[in-house]
Formats: sequence, structure tokens, C-alpha cells
Amino acid sequence: MGDLVLHLDNINKSFGGLSALSDVNLHVEEGTTHAIIGPNGAGKSTLLNVCIGRLKPDTGKVTFAGEVLTGREPHEITQLGVARVFQTPEIFQEMTLLENVMIPAFSHRDGAFRLNANKLLSKQGEIRDEAEHILEDVGLKDMMLTEAGSLSRGDKRRLELGMCLILRPRLLLLDEPTAGMARHDTNQTIELLKKIKSRGMTKVIIEHDMHVVFSLADKVSVLARGQIIAGGDPQSVREDPKVKEAYLGG
Ligand code: ADP
Ligand code: MG
Repeated sequence: MGDLVLHLDNINKSFGGLSALSDVNLHVEEGTTHAIIGPNGAGKSTLLNVCIGRLKPDTGKVTFAGEVLTGREPHEITQLGVARVFQTPEIFQEMTLLENVMIPAFSHRDGAFRLNANKLLSKQGEIRDEAEHILEDVGLKDMMLTEAGSLSRGDKRRLELGMCLILRPRLLLLDEPTAGMARHDTNQTIELLKKIKSRGMTKVIIEHDMHVVFSLADKVSVLARGQIIAGGDPQSVREDPKVKEAYLGG
């Protein structure tokens, strides 16, 4: 078993009177794919937003690789090696795919903005090469000079994944990466995520689609009404009566 690298300890988060997360404890092993499943409104996206600093928990602490993430700004968390793919892709519609993948590297890696103009130019060639490789990995290289706005929904999500990969994250958080995709697109995305898995990155994947969860996850945690109600390997979670009940009742 690998080391535990991501810890969520006693996380509570309310919106007004509504308790979205209540006493959530979660520990993720380095290099594994950990899925968080649960009915709509269970608190899954809230949990992810707490990890990346978009939301501050009312109580509790998130730690990644020995660094406390709670209380830090999202860009600082990115600098610590944490990247995320949102439920709705956030891409630059009027730029090409290549530009979209290059931009995050300039804004985040090695403090690139502080380099002088010469260094920045030499860096640009390096980043361009890497961006092309990544576009090949995500199956979009043929379209690298196309405007991102013209992509299909599935391709936009793969582009956003490419924008994360150029940051060379140690931890990748994905919020329903196959939401709204047709089966063919879903399968292609599963294959892509499997390929990334073999690079040893830790992944936390929020997912509604059971097919995706059971194809990818090493461990599964089930969230219902803001609480973790079950967890373990995918097979045991699938057979857990509490889980079936949460889904039927949810
Ligand atoms: P999931 O991703 O599992 O569908 P969410 O984390 O989006 O669930 O939402 C959990 C609960 O918190 C829901 O009841 C939702 O309406 C509520 N919620 C989420 N974000 C906010 C917010 N910014 N303000 C108020 N309520 C919110
Ligand atoms: Mg959600």
C-alpha cells in the first residue's frame, strides 16, 4: 500500500441553514484513483471546491503531501501540484487548442511571468512542444489550430484535461468528467484517464456514471446528504445495501 497523500479531516460546510458537508473524513492513497459517488445534491462538488480553495470549510482541514491547503488561495493550491477539471469546462473559446493548453503553463509554472523576455521566448518553444504532446495524448492534435469554441462538448472536456496536464499535477481532481457525454465519448475519456493513471498521478474523481467508476476507481467513497456513508473497493461498495438505498432514496 502506498502512502496516504490527501487528507480531509472533519470537514463541515453549511450554506445558510443547509448542511452540505457534515463531518467528512477522507484519506487518499498516493498514485491511486479514488472515486466519490453519490446522488445529486449529496455535496460532491462542494467537497471538491473545499479541496481547491474555492470554498472555505466552516471547520476541518485539508492536507496534501504534508501541506495544509485550507485557507490558501486557489492559485497557491495549484502551485502545490493540485489541478482540477470542473463540471463545466472553463476554456478560452476564441483561442486555438494549442494556445489553450499553453496558457496555464505560462501563468503557473516556475513563476514564468517573472522571467525576462529572452527566457520567456525560449521557454515558449519548450512549452509549445509539450502542449503538442499533450494534445496528441488527449486525441486533439489534428485540431490544434482550431478555435476551441467550435469543439464538441466531449472534446472541450478533453481540452480542459489537457490544460491541467501541462501543469504536471501530482493530484488531479475531476468533477464528473463524462457528464453529458455520449457513450462513445465516455469510453474514450475512460481510456484517456486510464493512460494518465499509468503515470502515477493521484486522482480524485467525482462521478455519477457507475460504468466510469467501476472501470477506473481503486477505491470508492459514497457521499449522501453531506456524509460519507460507505467506502472501500468498488465491488464491496456496489454490494453495500446502504449505497443502494441512498441511490434509490436520493
Ligand atoms: P453534488 O455535486 O453532489 O450534486 P453540491 O455539492 O453541488 O452537490 O451541493 C450540495 C448541496 O449544497 C445542495 O443542496 C446544493 O443546493 C447546496 N449548495 C451548493 N453550493 C451552494 C451555494 N454556493 N450556495 C447555497 N447552496 C449551495
Ligand atoms: Mg456536482
